[in-house]
Amino acid sequence: LSEKLSAAFKRLRSKGKLNESDVKEAMREVRLALLEADVNYKVAKDFVAKVSERAVGNEVMESLTPAQMVIKIVNEELTALMGGGETRLNSPSSPPAVVLFCGLQGSGKTTHAAKLALMLKNQGHRPLLVACDVYRPAAIQQLQVLGSQAGVPVFEQGAGDPVKISREAVKHAKDYGNDFVLIDTAGRLQIDEALMDELRRIKEAVPPTDILLVVDAMTGQEAVNVAKSFHELLDITGVVLTKLDGDARGGAALSVRAVTGRPIKFAGIGEKLSDLEVFHPDRMASRILGMGDVLTLIEDAQKNLDQKAAQKAAEKMMQNRMDLNDLLDQIRQMKKMGPIQDVLNKMPGMGQQLKDVQIDDRQIDRTEAILLSMTPQEREKPELMNPSRKRRIAAGSGMKVEDVNRLLKQFEQTRKLMKQFKKKGMRRRFAGMGL
Ligand code: GDP
Ligand code: MG
Repeated sequence: LSEKLSAAFKRLRSKGKLNESDVKEAMREVRLALLEADVNYKVAKDFVAKVSERAVGNEVMESLTPAQMVIKIVNEELTALMGGGETRLNSPSSPPAVVLFCGLQGSGKTTHAAKLALMLKNQGHRPLLVACDVYRPAAIQQLQVLGSQAGVPVFEQGAGDPVKISREAVKHAKDYGNDFVLIDTAGRLQIDEALMDELRRIKEAVPPTDILLVVDAMTGQEAVNVAKSFHELLDITGVVLTKLDGDARGGAALSVRAVTGRPIKFAGIGEKLSDLEVFHPDRMASRILGMGDVLTLIEDAQKNLDQKAAQKAAEKMMQNRMDLNDLLDQIRQMKKMGPIQDVLNKMPGMGQQLKDVQIDDRQIDRTEAILLSMTPQEREKPELMNPSRKRRIAAGSGMKVEDVNRLLKQFEQTRKLMKQFKKKGMRRRFAGMGL
């Protein structure tokens, strides 16, 4: 048995480098996650190809399987890909900074112009909102309502020429000491020439320090085309990704980033004016990969396998200084990782060998209950145990005195076993030295 065990441990220890089949296997999962998250097909394909190249040959971490290792690399690459670039607004050579919002109808331009106004105001700035969606009277009114909620002035000239309105708004800002001008523009359901032309003329007339493309995270596959068209025409400086409070997996973020190369500067996470965040690429990566499944496993392994504690326990065990406190620690560490059977099955090379072994987690719970009913002193010195203590522990844990006895006996046997192991080991070592 111990030979088998040591072989299994050897395999655990020497997982070595990722090979092509490890990577291929994990990539199937990743590609699926990306497509499910609405990442554009071509973007997903390019990304997977690039990551595969980097992953092959990478060292596999102690606590992970090769598949998990690939996903860890994918997560890092996704984070890096979406995180590059300046997320702050550009600053002008002389005030005011002018931020032009553009995007399709309903993407959240008006709402996010107001959200950003509030954020800036809270940072001590003096923003000015500008109503350049002149085609629907309701649009101007919407901005006025939001502006008053935010406590930020709104510049409007009714249904005038948006180019002229923007120019005059900037002049107004200079006269009144507004250091930010936030221009809300019209959107269409689809990209259309007239709209693009209008945006281009506003850009020439002002010109803006930032052009933010507002993209609804639910847009899905279409996000690529939208981003491409707007970027080609306007050379955007950044993206605002909205409606992340919904159930969109956020693949649009990756697509938009990939086709424009521009950073996502802000994320909208709700309808309220305060629901605006600076973009967090790591959170987005987790979201795209599917928080619930792949990633948590990796995080669990890293969090729970406290390497130092494990080493200390091993040392204590070798020196036969292990007590019941250590046993309790170990039970807790194991329980953090979920049902024992699952954990063992996830270990490479272990699944097959253990597939018929039934492990009863309830037994472990019972052991833990007994241990918890002992005082730390009793756990440290099991030899303190006497009938009255045993009765107290049994009552406290809802077990019988026999159960307490059995646990103590098993533990004592384990200690003896360890002692023998240690002696044998020593003898063998001496034998090796010719003694
Ligand atoms: P516009 O046509 O681009 O100006 O879009 P609006 O700013 O008018 O927003 C369209 C709708 O989306 C409105 O009902 C907003 O309340 C809603 N909305 C905007 N941003 C968010 C967000 O981050 N989360 C949620 N849940 N709703 C949003
Ligand atoms: Mg609007």
